Amino acid sequence: METIDWSNLSFGYMPTDYNVRCTYKNGAWGELEVCTSDSINLHMAATCLHYGQEGFEGLKAFRGRDGRIRIFRLEENAARLQSTSRGILMAELPTEKFREAILTVVKKNERFVPPYESGASLYIRPLLIGTSAQVGVKPAAEYLFVVFVTPVGPYFKEGFKPTPMCILRQYDRAAPLGTGIYKVGGNYAASLVAGEKAHEMGYSAVLYLDAKEKKYIDECGPANFFGIRDNCYITPQSTSILPSITNKSLMEIARSMGMTVEQRRIPEEELATFEEAGACGTAAVISPIERIDDLDENRTYIFSKDGRPGAVCERLYNKLRAIQYGDEPDPFGWVTVVE
Ligand SMILES: *Cc1c(COP(=O)(O)O)cnc(C)c1O
Repeated sequence: METIDWSNLSFGYMPTDYNVRCTYKNGAWGELEVCTSDSINLHMAATCLHYGQEGFEGLKAFRGRDGRIRIFRLEENAARLQSTSRGILMAELPTEKFREAILTVVKKNERFVPPYESGASLYIRPLLIGTSAQVGVKPAAEYLFVVFVTPVGPYFKEGFKPTPMCILRQYDRAAPLGTGIYKVGGNYAASLVAGEKAHEMGYSAVLYLDAKEKKYIDECGPANFFGIRDNCYITPQSTSILPSITNKSLMEIARSMGMTVEQRRIPEEELATFEEAGACGTAAVISPIERIDDLDENRTYIFSKDGRPGAVCERLYNKLRAIQYGDEPDPFGWVTVVE
């Protein structure tokens, strides 16, 4: 068996031993199958290829100091995949089936769950696609649900460090009443050009404004946005952002630490009043924002002058990671221990 250099993993794809699959046919979900092939045999007229009937999820499993494996908030991911399915008319996978799939794929690939000390984790990627052939625009009659896993390194290789982001008004990620609230690949395709442009200019991500008025903060490409001011956690309310489970968790942690939480529209100018700002999502938990450059209006909002994250970001980050790795108790009931 090959040995894995746990401390040098990237956020890429490393093959593992097994994936699990489940198909929907004749109006019902079948039995879960454990599979060793990493290919899918797909009809060339499948709706996922032509009409974007595709939704996915992302969650992680962590090995604790006690050697046990913990999966973070998997029921929330099941519910969000169901919401995505309703949003683009795909068959809904029951929570129990989702849970069984996740636990099976993690147990089967236990040797790929990185050791506690590495700071790495096992990324879990559920995928749901329309598979039956269709040339007219309508939903598929058949679906495939697949879950694969791959070990991923600690997001911050050089430590928890703020990065710059930019506002680019020429691009929208999602329409105000479109699919931004669903986790679908199409939103990512729509964000690739702006994302590449931002990377070329040295930014880690684009901070999108609302597509209609270009006045309010939406989200940061693949992560939600939050700001901190006067012991308050402030995050956008919008009809075009993906409800991040990390953001939802940080809001609960902030409340439990005695902070107030506001979820509302955030006008761009309010950025100037935030003491700290961050992007949040499963990959990084929190990615602190150093500054935001509004490239169209020639304005800059600075959140970190010394290249270090703010104290509140750091406290929230440490608390969430401690719950995920089992270093601290889980008062919210977020963790599923793999038995
Ligand atoms: C997945 C995703 C997030 C982060 O959600 P988490 O549940 O916290 O991982 C944020 N924005 C977009 C667009 C996403 O697809």
